[in-house]
Amino acid sequence: MINIVLFGPPGAGKGTQANVLKEKYGLVHISTGDVFRYNIKNQTELGVNAKSFMDKGQLVPDNVTISMLEAEVDQAPGAKGFIFDGFPRTAAQAEALSNLLAKKNTEVSAMIALEVDDEILVQRLLERGKTSGRQDDADESIIRNRIKVYYEETAILKQYYLKQDKYYGVDGVGSINDITQRVSAVIDSLKN
Ligand code: AMP
Repeated sequence: MINIVLFGPPGAGKGTQANVLKEKYGLVHISTGDVFRYNIKNQTELGVNAKSFMDKGQLVPDNVTISMLEAEVDQAPGAKGFIFDGFPRTAAQAEALSNLLAKKNTEVSAMIALEVDDEILVQRLLERGKTSGRQDDADESIIRNRIKVYYEETAILKQYYLKQDKYYGVDGVGSINDITQRVSAVIDSLKN
């Protein structure tokens, strides 16, 4: 199995790249943000719970997020591998992912980080907010809070995967196609 953690701050292009890469490599794409938004739209208990955090640009608590992720992975029993997009975002989530994959006799193959400067992120998210309908893209202070949360709680995961020799940084600025080529070069190097 190839299991990729696509990593980077909000607006780095994780979702865009995951959508291309899942087709190219036949992987199951799990975006925790998308699952939360689906649940909000359908007014499930999970959605109601997650919304209060998401609207402020805060992380949804680990216990809620981890059980949701486990359920998503269990729903894809025959998968050739996964692209995790927006997960893990905390050390506890990274541990939970490692344990979950170990139970399936597999592991994270690589964390691929899309590197983009903060001011470009803010501009991209404000632009996306014009059409995404996402409340957390509509307000610059919420966008900046999401980036702050990324540095405070999520960026440490770089060390976690570096220690395991699984961290790959990729320049996340350029055309979608150029960035896909850069990420693909990393994935192809794993297979050999
Ligand atoms: P995203 O679509 O990845 O930008 O996520 C949007 C929002 O969903 C985040 O700002 C968080 O509130 C929530 N979220 C998504 N993934 C996670 C996660 N792994 N842990 C906690 N909260 C998350």
